[in-house]
Amino acid sequence: MAVKGKRQPHVLAVPFPAQGHVRPLMKLCRRIASRGIKVTFVNTEHIHAKVVAAMSEEDKRQNPIQLISIPDGLPPDDDRSPGFELMESVIRTMPGNLRNLIEKINGRSSDEKITCVIADITIGWILDVTQKLGAESVVFQSAAAAGMAMVLQIPKLIRAGNLDMNGSVKKNELINLSDNIPSWRKNELPWSFPGDLKTQSMVFETFMAGGKTAHRAKWLLCNTFYELEPPACNLIPNFLPVGPLLSTNNSKSSAIGGSFWLEDTTCFSWLDKQQIGSVIYVSFGSIAVFSQDQLNELALALEISSRPFLWVVRSNLANGSIVKFPNGFLERVAKRGKIVEWAPQEEVLAHSSIACFISHCGWNSTMEGLTMGVPFLCWPYFSDQFHNQSYICDMWKIGLRLNPDENGLRSRLEISTKIEMLLSDYSIKTNAVKLKEMALESVSGSESSSQNFETFIYHLKN
Ligand code: UDP
Repeated sequence: MAVKGKRQPHVLAVPFPAQGHVRPLMKLCRRIASRGIKVTFVNTEHIHAKVVAAMSEEDKRQNPIQLISIPDGLPPDDDRSPGFELMESVIRTMPGNLRNLIEKINGRSSDEKITCVIADITIGWILDVTQKLGAESVVFQSAAAAGMAMVLQIPKLIRAGNLDMNGSVKKNELINLSDNIPSWRKNELPWSFPGDLKTQSMVFETFMAGGKTAHRAKWLLCNTFYELEPPACNLIPNFLPVGPLLSTNNSKSSAIGGSFWLEDTTCFSWLDKQQIGSVIYVSFGSIAVFSQDQLNELALALEISSRPFLWVVRSNLANGSIVKFPNGFLERVAKRGKIVEWAPQEEVLAHSSIACFISHCGWNSTMEGLTMGVPFLCWPYFSDQFHNQSYICDMWKIGLRLNPDENGLRSRLEISTKIEMLLSDYSIKTNAVKLKEMALESVSGSESSSQNFETFIYHLKN
């Protein structure tokens, strides 16, 4: 209950318009709303339409947060793929659109006034605008604490000559923030866009601005838990790790929403028919794309492995071309393979038939896999995914790397060999189970993430 005389808390949440950013922030917001706090969630119009279209009727009925939208400034027919145009347009239009939105909401009644804005760190600079309208600033990181620590250290790294003003590593050496945090290689930084310096510079600039704002924010929230990356958490002031953010954190419903595609729930009846710990789950998140040659190698590796597999093949997985499978592949694997366009991933990973996860190591996928105790085969595509791979393979020891050959391809032999190595490695499985227990403990009772969440809720209400 709010203290008498205090304004009713009203949280406005603003994600970056991409799947891996919208979904975890929405999970957090649903938890906040389940504690009786009003939450308004602002997507761009394009993303809002996708999210609403992919929500089940049950989800729409149970959704405790208000979903609204603002324009992203791009023409309706733009493909809005992550990159320069989208970022440039968001930077140009979002401050004005948000200011207008908040003024409109605040003008309705004093009970409605926005008291707190939670913004994704990649657009953290918008908090400079919203703070002037009387709302407290909170930054949200949908990736690792290590990435957030890195962003906060940018000015220091520039002064030390490690980074240039485009965010490129100057001396071609590793960047190391602290012992027990894996080092970052050139082109594997959170803002890295190898071969596209124009986009990288802009992303770097927005991270830098977000980092500056984050230093002034009341809290920095993150989808991680303290015990998972203590050295990184210790580097961040006012830090509240509240992860793992799970659909089951929400008291009322297991449905979470925030998906951009319709989830194919036929996965479950198929998984129910498979043996415990037998299925290879293959998914590369929402952005990664592959050449047709690479897709052929992966398909043939899954065929060679002779194990059941569930493979998420998005319609845009073949980089703009229609996905083609090797001749006769679908017929040959029909009895033990299932291919879907989009899966209910968190629930799939929690299913007892899953044996391992071939993953691009996006942070959400990483958190979901480790929370379910599933070992990884790592296939990073860009940005922080390489650093997450280092965490998985070198620090937590819950997975193996899939290494590219001299042509940059992961061969069918590499993939099928590593599947067998992973599934026969007892210590990796044991580590994965231990990490699962740690993750679940952190969000239960009075443990770290649970406590941090309570601290935040108390602060919002008082
Ligand atoms: N996801 C899903 N179904 C799929 C594939 C992915 O629901 O078939 C979700 C996944 O659970 C995760 C998000 O999409 O929450 C992807 O985020 P991540 O950070 O792993 O990767 P990104 O898409 O940002 O590269």
